Amino acid sequence: MGVSPRMHVDPWATLLPARTASPEETEALGRRLAEALEPGEVVALYGDLGAGKTCLVRGLAAGLGADPEGVTSPTFTLVQTYAGRVPVHHLDVYRIESEAALDALGLEELLDSEDAVALVEWPERMEDRLPRHVRRLRLTHVGRAGREVSLG
Ligand code: ADP
Ligand code: MG
Repeated sequence: MGVSPRMHVDPWATLLPARTASPEETEALGRRLAEALEPGEVVALYGDLGAGKTCLVRGLAAGLGADPEGVTSPTFTLVQTYAGRVPVHHLDVYRIESEAALDALGLEELLDSEDAVALVEWPERMEDRLPRHVRRLRLTHVGRAGREVSLG
């Protein structure tokens, strides 16, 4: 990244906060947000169960060139990697029980990989392991099918 001589407006700041009314809209928002992502970035997705984190990941991954069909909640596997224009590491650390378990996952490498983007569900479980350059997104319920996506 570095310091740009021009004024730079992060597209995320103009797209967010956003309201979506369906899973399809949340996925579409993810695709647009992905346009601003560079290899090496880490995105932390906060929100309750069912808030739409995985749905948003599906859009983000699709925007990075992955097949959205392959994006499922890695709750039991903890991490899945999707091939694409930019490889995507999708982590769900909801069930993680210890720092050692995070290490066993190869967390360091996953977050440090300069050629991939890492997307993390339940980042509050590993807050102190997130890099300083992490981007935070928060999803909240607005009624049954509405969701608000904001910078976290
Ligand atoms: P999380 O990963 O946060 O637990 P998921 O993305 O797996 O959440 O699930 C979100 C659920 O909410 C899905 O069943 C989806 O169909 C539903 N849903 C309803 N409205 C929306 C919306 N606007 N955006 C995302 N998901 C929605
Ligand atoms: Mg999920």
